[in-house]
Amino acid sequence: TIGMIAMDAQGNLSGACTTSGMAYKLHGRIGDSPIIGAGLYIDNEIGGATSTGVGEEVVRNVGSFLVVELMRQGYTPEDACKEAVMRIIKKKPETAKKIQVGFLAMNKKGEYGAYAIQQGFSYAVCDSQKQDLVIKGKSYY
Ligand code: ASP
Repeated sequence: TIGMIAMDAQGNLSGACTTSGMAYKLHGRIGDSPIIGAGLYIDNEIGGATSTGVGEEVVRNVGSFLVVELMRQGYTPEDACKEAVMRIIKKKPETAKKIQVGFLAMNKKGEYGAYAIQQGFSYAVCDSQKQDLVIKGKSYY
């Protein structure tokens, strides 16, 4: 999945995501990406979040909505992403060892962060000062 969260010059948030789905998926499977609240969620008052990885686990936890709601409660983007990842790990610790799920978030102040189960989840940030900054996302393992 490629997910994006954008803020315009007026501070309005928007987002998008696209995916090829999972390898060997069953015909008719719907992942997290096309489900608002799972693979993508934006609340222009609070922030936005998007996910990548095993969509079934993101759907079960309404992951991107959860990240935005945690930011509403005062979590930083990174801490909100981490908490959403921890819910997946706590519910299915054995499964979580073998899968990847990552979240990326930005709040209304333009602060951003990410967190994933496995290493190797990098993301890019682009703004008028920091062109093409690539950040190595933190992870549980
Ligand atoms: N999240 C996608 C899905 O489950 C997979 C991906 O990360 O591309 O369909």
